[in-house]
Amino acid sequence: MDPAPRPNALKSMGHRLSLTKLRRALSGRKKKLEEIQEPDEPYQTTPTTTKPEEGQEEEEEEDDDDDMNEGNTVIGLLGGGQLGRMLCEAANPLGIDIAILDEHNAPAKQAHNTNRHVVGSFKDPGRIKELAARSDYLSVEIEHVDTEVLEDIEKNGVPVEINGEIVTHRPPIHPSWRTLRLIQDKYLQKEHFKSSGKTIPIAEQIAIESGDAALDSLKKAGKQFGFPFMLKARKGSYDGRGNFKVDSEDDFAEAIKALGTLPLYAEKWAPFVKELAVMVIRTEDSDGKLKNCVAYPAVETIHEDSICTKVFMPPRDVSEDICEKARKLATEVISTLWGRGVFAVEMFLLEDASLMINEVAPRPHNSGHYTIEAVPYMSQYKAQLHAVLDLPVPDKLIPRVQSSIMLNILGGAKPDSHHHLSGLARSTYDDDMDVYLHLYNKESKPSRKIGHITLTGFCSVQELEAKAKPFIDLVDQIRLDRLEATSETLRPTQETNGSAKPAEKAPVEPATDNHVEAQELSAEAASSDKPLVLVTMGSDSDLPVLKAGLDILKEFNVPYALDITSAHRTPKYMMKVADEAAGKGIKVIIAAAGGAAHLPGMISSETPLPVIGVPVKATHLDGIDSLLSIVQMPRGVPTATVGINNSTNAALLAIRILGAFVPEYQQAMKKYQVDMEEAVIVKGTKLREGGDAAYLAGMKK
Ligand code: ADP
Ligand code: MG
Repeated sequence: MDPAPRPNALKSMGHRLSLTKLRRALSGRKKKLEEIQEPDEPYQTTPTTTKPEEGQEEEEEEDDDDDMNEGNTVIGLLGGGQLGRMLCEAANPLGIDIAILDEHNAPAKQAHNTNRHVVGSFKDPGRIKELAARSDYLSVEIEHVDTEVLEDIEKNGVPVEINGEIVTHRPPIHPSWRTLRLIQDKYLQKEHFKSSGKTIPIAEQIAIESGDAALDSLKKAGKQFGFPFMLKARKGSYDGRGNFKVDSEDDFAEAIKALGTLPLYAEKWAPFVKELAVMVIRTEDSDGKLKNCVAYPAVETIHEDSICTKVFMPPRDVSEDICEKARKLATEVISTLWGRGVFAVEMFLLEDASLMINEVAPRPHNSGHYTIEAVPYMSQYKAQLHAVLDLPVPDKLIPRVQSSIMLNILGGAKPDSHHHLSGLARSTYDDDMDVYLHLYNKESKPSRKIGHITLTGFCSVQELEAKAKPFIDLVDQIRLDRLEATSETLRPTQETNGSAKPAEKAPVEPATDNHVEAQELSAEAASSDKPLVLVTMGSDSDLPVLKAGLDILKEFNVPYALDITSAHRTPKYMMKVADEAAGKGIKVIIAAAGGAAHLPGMISSETPLPVIGVPVKATHLDGIDSLLSIVQMPRGVPTATVGINNSTNAALLAIRILGAFVPEYQQAMKKYQVDMEEAVIVKGTKLREGGDAAYLAGMKK
């Protein structure tokens, strides 16, 4: 069967009709659809891209748009974090509709009201196809998406039903899935630049073998590059997660442990003096032929703790000549890719004034936020919209201010740590410096990007920096407080007995710097490699009872240490462990014992930490003996007690205690409680609707 016409077929008519208008056109004229495919399950949705009759579009333009966003061109966006939010803010006045695929109420969805949003994961092929079916174009605000399904949509389209007829719909995808796939793999990305035929300097790199061969590979890298060198996960990394600086052969084992089983590559250390970034708008025609690459000014990016914290435009103490070279290089790099849109090019400025490409992001980028105010006629977000929709873009991008500084607002030690900073931004009015506050309406978590402030001026960047000092000082103070709190709570410095958690810097599920990811929680927890909970038992026979609790700790990503400390057989060792636990960074102790269960109480007498006793049912007396031994502690030596054998509650209580000072754990606990409530509601509904007989039959299965 022939495929349905490509949207590009409409190009010859001057512009594309939006899907909604086309649907109405089809409905009004009962136009016979050509080249119909018969998919198994067409999406019950409105759009198609089938070619309308000549002259039809002018009439359609005059129709009233009663429905929300009716008639606007729809861009389907995979991901709805702050980049998507700012894209929506740019789209709103332009009459462009953005359909977001992400969690309910994601930051971008809050900024754009439409009935086309899709709830779900941007990694879910089914949801991506659903989004495609209701969009004129597809784009992304995050590169870690399923490119297989995007390729499938480009090649085979998605079936949509329009007024009872089935058509194949192929929204153009920008940037191309080819670009996304290439960029997802940092190693291949740079191999591509190397073999592009253009002069694109990159750091020397070698792929690292997996499994047992990894060590030999690392030795080879050490020999070839010298030390230090950078070991990087090829895929899924962001904000420095997934990178490991290898200082010597001694780091090999830790590096392999930290980066786990992911495909890795090693990169020669780049002794940079500054990091620069350039945003580039890439346009191409509907046949995929490059039209133009237009560069924004070069900026200086400051990374602290592997996160971009500040951006300076123009870069401080960098000559115009180097800035121009950076822009030219960035356009060269982006010209080798595929599809339309804005791209960020991260680069290193080396001591000898040469430039080296670090990596590319195929989307709006943190280093381009400043363009909202500094290049207001074509911010990076407006540029993304214009490029994707093939609308005009300027052939030069000159800022409308002399200098600009962007400061990220990162979540601090406490949920309100940033309030002084946002308050200062709200209350500062200065003839020589304009202040623009952006908050993303994301819950504050330590190090999370929750907003940014852009400062602009008609003075040198150094003068602007001096004027911006109160802002910069507050940003730095929030960071210092966060680091201090983190080192006190999540990063105890001393060793304890064994840890169930992987080492620091382990990569997490793909996400980007901008995205609201469920995984942020586990990432945050994973950033602590030292145990927070000590789980100890009087005898190894208690271990099976503790398993349920250990599973809970794992589920919540709580690092824990295990030990056997018998109150009667190893009393000295038990007291030593109890005495040293707090100093080793442990925050809560879970102690399980059966029979004459003195362990929890004895530990409690020796430590200032909260101790939760788990009474274990021993051979005789049904565990009542254990329970009473633990619960009947004398005044002054409090010891929490859970039900007999109920290590689940011991673990949950431990997490609640941690949650009192680590917001992530409290948040996770809330979610756990909501999930538990939902599970009971589902059961109740099933019982009410199906009756007891059917329910019991179901339970027997
Ligand atoms: P991410 O995906 O987290 O942005 P990058 O590969 O860009 O990861 O690395 C994060 C930061 O680590 C860079 O901005 C730079 O500061 C530093 N870095 C990365 N690669 C190298 C290198 N080869 N040499 C020195 N520093 C590097
Ligand atoms: Mg980077």
